[in-house]
Amino acid sequence: MPEQDLSAGKRSPVQALVLFGPPGSGKGTQAKLLMQCLGIPQISTGDMLREHITAGNVLGQEVSGIMRSGALVADEKVNALVEERLAKPDCAKGFILDGYPRTQQQAEALGRWLVRRDIAELVIHLIVDYNSLITRLTGRRQCPHCGTLYNLFSKAPKQDEVCDLDGTKLIIREDDSAAVIKERLDAYDRQTQPLIAYFRNQGRRLLELDASSDPPPVLMKKICSAIQDNARER
Ligand code: AMP
Repeated sequence: MPEQDLSAGKRSPVQALVLFGPPGSGKGTQAKLLMQCLGIPQISTGDMLREHITAGNVLGQEVSGIMRSGALVADEKVNALVEERLAKPDCAKGFILDGYPRTQQQAEALGRWLVRRDIAELVIHLIVDYNSLITRLTGRRQCPHCGTLYNLFSKAPKQDEVCDLDGTKLIIREDDSAAVIKERLDAYDRQTQPLIAYFRNQGRRLLELDASSDPPPVLMKKICSAIQDNARER
């Protein structure tokens, strides 16, 4: 398998890739790496919702309190956002879902959307132990200017709390405070984790990978290999 860039002029070996896992499991980081490698866009419902908050529009105002608390936004709102996004031309070759689906209702809505288009999804479950999740989430920092993600424990900026690329002071995401992290992990356990059993019962393609210790580029290569093996088996 080529180590990088499967995208150049080729079809992606997967059309609908779902990156699944708890907050802090590295879905966003992997989605960004895979997007370059597979040549299909990342669709992060968390990022889309944050964009609405930044824009200060009605949806943003409706969801900001919920997101600050660490709870999940209502299914109808998130399903509508995703459906609108998937209709854009850049999703025609395929897409990577990051942070969606997170409830059974969302999984069912996605399932209906995919069945109508005869697309089979591949779910990759990133498994990370609880203590590592807490370390990752509490150490997370982001550049508000260019979006680059850092972690004080595993990918610290060269200069304390400042972006390596543009010198902007890094920020902590509002929902990465200790109390909100707990709420987000609880929401995952209650509403999202049960989807694994649902995917299995539905016979949906599900691959599980240990995502605790590999550096992101190494994990990305493992995910790419798993995707290609799976495409060959079909
Ligand atoms: P994330 O950036 O994926 O960790 O998401 C941040 C927050 O956005 C979550 O804690 C939820 O409040 C909200 N959110 C993101 N994706 C979803 C989703 N699929 N369903 C409901 N709420 C979501």
